[in-house]
Amino acid sequence: MAKLQEKAAPILRVAVDVPLYRLFDYEIPETIAAERLKPGLRLSVPFGRAQKTGYLVSLEERSEVSGVRLKPIDGVLDREPLLSPGDLRLLHWAARYYHHPLGEVFASAFPSGLRQGRTAVLERPVRYMLSAKGREFESELLQRAPKQKLLLEVFRQCPDALSEAELAASVDNWRPALKQLAAKGLVKFDDSAISAAVAETPPVKGNPIVCNPEQTAAVAEVCAGLDRFGVFLLEGVTGSGKTEVYMQIIGKVLERGLQVLVLLPEITLTPQLENRFRQRFAVDIEVSHSKLTDAQRQNAWLSMQQGAGAILLGTRSALFTPLPRLGLIILDEEHDASFKQQEGFRFSARDVAVVRAKLANVPVLLGSATPSLESLYNAQAGRYRLLQLPNRAGNAAAPAVRLLDIRNKSLHEGISEPLFAEIRQTLEKGEQVLLFLNRRGFAPRLICHDCGWVARCTHCDANLVIHFREQKLRCHHCDAEQPLVKSCLSCTGSSLRPLGLGTERVEQILPELFPDKAVVRLDRDTTQRKGSLENYLRQINEGRADIILGTQMLAKGHHFPNVTLVAILDTDSGLYSIDFHAAEKLAQMIVQVIGRAGRADKPGSVILQTRHPEHPLLTTLIREGYNGFARQALAERNAAALPPFSHQALFRVQAGDPFKPKAFLEAVKNLAAAKQTGGTLVLGPVAAPMAKRAGSYRYQLLLQDANRQALQQLLDRLLPEIDKIKKEKNLRWSLDVDPVDLY
Ligand code: ADP
Ligand code: ZN
Ligand code: ZN
Repeated sequence: MAKLQEKAAPILRVAVDVPLYRLFDYEIPETIAAERLKPGLRLSVPFGRAQKTGYLVSLEERSEVSGVRLKPIDGVLDREPLLSPGDLRLLHWAARYYHHPLGEVFASAFPSGLRQGRTAVLERPVRYMLSAKGREFESELLQRAPKQKLLLEVFRQCPDALSEAELAASVDNWRPALKQLAAKGLVKFDDSAISAAVAETPPVKGNPIVCNPEQTAAVAEVCAGLDRFGVFLLEGVTGSGKTEVYMQIIGKVLERGLQVLVLLPEITLTPQLENRFRQRFAVDIEVSHSKLTDAQRQNAWLSMQQGAGAILLGTRSALFTPLPRLGLIILDEEHDASFKQQEGFRFSARDVAVVRAKLANVPVLLGSATPSLESLYNAQAGRYRLLQLPNRAGNAAAPAVRLLDIRNKSLHEGISEPLFAEIRQTLEKGEQVLLFLNRRGFAPRLICHDCGWVARCTHCDANLVIHFREQKLRCHHCDAEQPLVKSCLSCTGSSLRPLGLGTERVEQILPELFPDKAVVRLDRDTTQRKGSLENYLRQINEGRADIILGTQMLAKGHHFPNVTLVAILDTDSGLYSIDFHAAEKLAQMIVQVIGRAGRADKPGSVILQTRHPEHPLLTTLIREGYNGFARQALAERNAAALPPFSHQALFRVQAGDPFKPKAFLEAVKNLAAAKQTGGTLVLGPVAAPMAKRAGSYRYQLLLQDANRQALQQLLDRLLPEIDKIKKEKNLRWSLDVDPVDLY
């Protein structure tokens, strides 16, 4: 008999959720069988004095740390890994590409409960349905209880049972009404197995809209490539029927029994859109965004991970959700800045989605009315397939857009005489007006007329913004606030004046200019409370608003069919920014705002108030549309060797000390010079455009290379060394690969 070879038990290499560029080795305790330990498992590990969640990366023969006795792990949290080998490959790729600690990258793939080590059990959502009595019941009998009547009608429209999430999406504050309906015996718990019911019905309900030829062509192109990787860029003006195209393609993917991941910017994920999906598809639709509770998001995650969920509608954070039967990824409003995570693990959900699709060998569809210059460039280069919907769907005509020169015109709180006349005419026809101003608060500055003193934030290089109704001065960068002062803090005089325009100030003047007209203001200040945005949107859509005033919140996704006049009060902020991304963002914002006008059967018009009517960005945009602008902007980027014609990585450093950040970046720069083998540009260090923010002094160093590989290799060599630079405790640095702004 052969002698059994004495073999040392393997050790565990673990990624722990800490901001450190290294992995940690642990021993396997005797109580745990080594065979069940597979990469991707969540572990509970001792870490310092605490216990943390770790993620098993690999089993190794021996540890790289010598001379220390390894600690055993405390336990294994899952029977089987929740992540598939494909998911693990994606996370490893992302950690390497963004040069971010693997433990934090792993953690970002999990909902917060699982990250904290909670057990992964999917709680079946409670569902409700009409009773036999409820199906027969004459809803007119509920005339005196409108909420109950509404709820009953919602149940009528959906033959299946409804979950709490679905009810919340259709009727706000639905719970009391549901209780009353249940007390009347009209509604009951659904105790049948949902999944069985769902499996029997075809995934697409009813007869979808008949597509126009452009939509048909787009659907056909994507559907011809459903069995392999490919990137499609769907460019279509607002209202051109992109969402309809998505739904047609999704239907085909569902018929193959596969799952679909749909990513949207936070603000466009409205109940309206969710309802459109629910009306079209008889499958389990999961939703994941920041307004949901941790428990709801965890359930959505697990439902997809276990394959019960068929469609996941989510924001950036849903990107890494495990999808065992992934068949298609859609990213709507692909140009939107909210797809870029701006703190911690800084990744572009758009770019990672493309890599995810490639690893899974499935198509990915990027959609926008105003595609990013990167994506247009990729389409030009033949890497992405460009699909276009040049016209509005149905019979809505494109709005007429014109520049209104406001030089030498008197403005009444930002509204010129010609604009005033247009607004009045529109209101007289009983149509709605949308006024766009991308600045909240009353006024962006409080200035002393006698001595020139301006109220500044003591923690930031920024002016304090006046919030008049609350009688506050507030910093929009660090949220510091103080009471609105009545006299100058420098000369003690009383000639303080608000300077500039915010939405609150315009809102105040509107009732004077347009008596008896209802005004709705939509910005971050008026939509803080849960459900308030939904209430305002309903008010607008039910015609209980004449003038809608708001910030960029208005520019995205919402449908206002009765709006026929759109005006941008201050088009110029952003025309002369030092950040080269600003022009692209401004053009996108203008086009998105234009898209809000005249969506239904009424033609719309758009007025842009400007003091720079000859500015090439504006004239090109008006004459040749977004595509003309994009062509020109790409030519300029090319001439200046800026992205997408080169690739960037930005080191940001901040500290309480004004000199340390710069010294630290000088050291990084020297290291970069030493590690450099090619021609990567190293620019800086320079003070950040906002040199002081929330009490910290900020500097940055920019790396740029036409060759992405060369830049990545330099970062590979540089990163391990940076941790060794001596630095004071409160100095914080971060790396942003492919930054989308230079602030
Ligand atoms: P987008 O997503 O591009 O803004 P939507 O898909 O939301 O556009 O379509 C805008 C409106 O036009 C919706 O009300 C939609 O139902 C309608 N629509 C879309 N496609 C068609 C079509 N082929 N015929 C008629 N109406 C359509
Ligand atoms: Zn501040
Ligand atoms: Zn003064």
